[in-house]
Amino acid sequence: MKNPTLRVTKWLANIPVEACCSTCPDKCFKAASTQHRPELLDFQQQLMRAFERHLVLEHKSAA
Ligand SMILES: [Zn+2]
Repeated sequence: MKNPTLRVTKWLANIPVEACCSTCPDKCFKAASTQHRPELLDFQQQLMRAFERHLVLEHKSAA
C-alpha cells in the first residue's frame, strides 16, 4: 500500500492554492484567502490541515 501524499494541483505563482490526495483522485482541498492577498505560509498550512483531517477521517492514520 502506498502512503497517501498531498499533491499540489494548482499554483498561484509560487503559492499552492489547491492540492489533492495522491490516492484519492476526487479528494481535493482548496485554500481560501483570509487576508487581502494570498499568503504562502497561510495557504500551505490550510492545505496541510485539510489533508491531515482527510488522513484521519478516510485513511484512519494518525496525523
Ligand atoms: Zn485520500
